[in-house]
Amino acid sequence: MAWLKHTYATQLPQNLYSVQAPVPVGNSQMALYNEALAGELGIAGHLKEAEKALAYLSGNETIPGSQPIAQAYAGHQFGHFTRLGDGRAVLLGEIETPNGLYDLQLKGSGQTPYSRRGDGRATFYSMLREYLISEALHALHIPTTRSLAVVKTAGPVYREQIQEGGILTRVAASHIRVGTFEYARFFGEADDLEALLKYTIQRHYPDLTDHASPALALLERVMQKQKDLIINWLRVGFIHGVMNTDNMAISGETIDYGPCAFMNAYHPRTVFSSIDTQGRYAFANQPNIAYWNLSVFANALLPLIDEEEEAAGAKTQEVLDQFPEAFSKAYFEMMGHKLGIVNQEEEDRDLINSGLKLLAKWRVDYTNFFTELRRGGALIDGLRQEDAFESWYSKWEKARSRGATLAESEALMAQMNPVAIPRNHLVEEVLQSAVSGDMHPFHSLLQELSSPYDDALPLQAVPAGFDASYQTFCGT
Ligand code: AMP
Ligand code: MG
Repeated sequence: MAWLKHTYATQLPQNLYSVQAPVPVGNSQMALYNEALAGELGIAGHLKEAEKALAYLSGNETIPGSQPIAQAYAGHQFGHFTRLGDGRAVLLGEIETPNGLYDLQLKGSGQTPYSRRGDGRATFYSMLREYLISEALHALHIPTTRSLAVVKTAGPVYREQIQEGGILTRVAASHIRVGTFEYARFFGEADDLEALLKYTIQRHYPDLTDHASPALALLERVMQKQKDLIINWLRVGFIHGVMNTDNMAISGETIDYGPCAFMNAYHPRTVFSSIDTQGRYAFANQPNIAYWNLSVFANALLPLIDEEEEAAGAKTQEVLDQFPEAFSKAYFEMMGHKLGIVNQEEEDRDLINSGLKLLAKWRVDYTNFFTELRRGGALIDGLRQEDAFESWYSKWEKARSRGATLAESEALMAQMNPVAIPRNHLVEEVLQSAVSGDMHPFHSLLQELSSPYDDALPLQAVPAGFDASYQTFCGT
């Protein structure tokens, strides 16, 4: 029985994809399988027999009725416009759920017409990493693509060293990116852009269908979604690491877990990606880059907004101009909530900024700071020995008690501030064990990260100096 849909391929022009089956990998092994997610998606039954799940999710066997495709897209990578596409992924099809369609995609499944010089493969290590961090973001209540499975493949994958290969099954509200619109606009045929717009609105934002200017309305909606997403990243200390326009999803989900990492010691310019030497994608630069990417999105949409380019530009600029203020309002509200300030005032912005300056100056652990501020503890006791912090602390106490009880303030802080995050050293530790054949540490970390706001969790220790030499990589 066919249980996958193919609306992307059937409703969109052929320019936007290529029919492409996964390339069989031979002997492989199911390393991780997310039963809960299969259940949520209502597909557990289709993958019930262990051998079927492995055969389908390794790409060795085609799911009955499935017509896999690789999607075309373009993107601005570090500011440079490039023609891209699924170079190592194929969309098996879409799953129909009460919450709409979800893409079922294999990543690391072999070469496609968009592979350029790549081998179409991924390492077992990096697919495990994506599984762990994407599931952690989900548990942190942050919109993200999900991970259904990781298959370990027999063949070697050649990176700096020979490594084991892996295939991730990624689930996403869709894989439509800002870069998909750039592709349709600059490499497509005349009607491709409009077809993509229609499809996107119907799939993600059907309430915009009858809008007087659907393209402008989509820009505005995507802007809101990205604003909310990045506010969430800043809330938990997440650094995406490679916010190219091809890695920005129209759905507002976090996508592409290459060089991402979590910030421990607070500093706005924190970067871990080995290639981000200029700090383009540094922690606190993420809102600026989101804005930059949204401008690229707006530019791709221009022909759908007004026949006259100048008029179209003015209309999109009017929308884009709302971003900085809307972002800053939402940002301060989020940070105020992290501090347990229920009834916020304009003056709290100074409190937030001055508090963050102190954290940056002393390189205080971002996550532990907020947890200890609520629970009390040695970290805060230590900071309070400093006059500058003690004076900040008493202002904070006043702000949080403004028209709210201590219990209300604490409850808000508990809801906003995770106790456990995927600490870089823990992630690397469990991945090293996993590639050496022991999955136990991986599973226990995954378990801990599945309820990151659990107040029974102890504070996470952070080894001094680890981050100083920590680097993350793309395309592994
Ligand atoms: P990313 O940096 O992961 O966003 O990838 C950028 C582009 O490179 C996308 O088009 C990917 O599909 C492609 N790509 C990354 N790794 C490989 C690979 N090993 N083989 C083929 N294409 C790849
Ligand atoms: Mg990508």
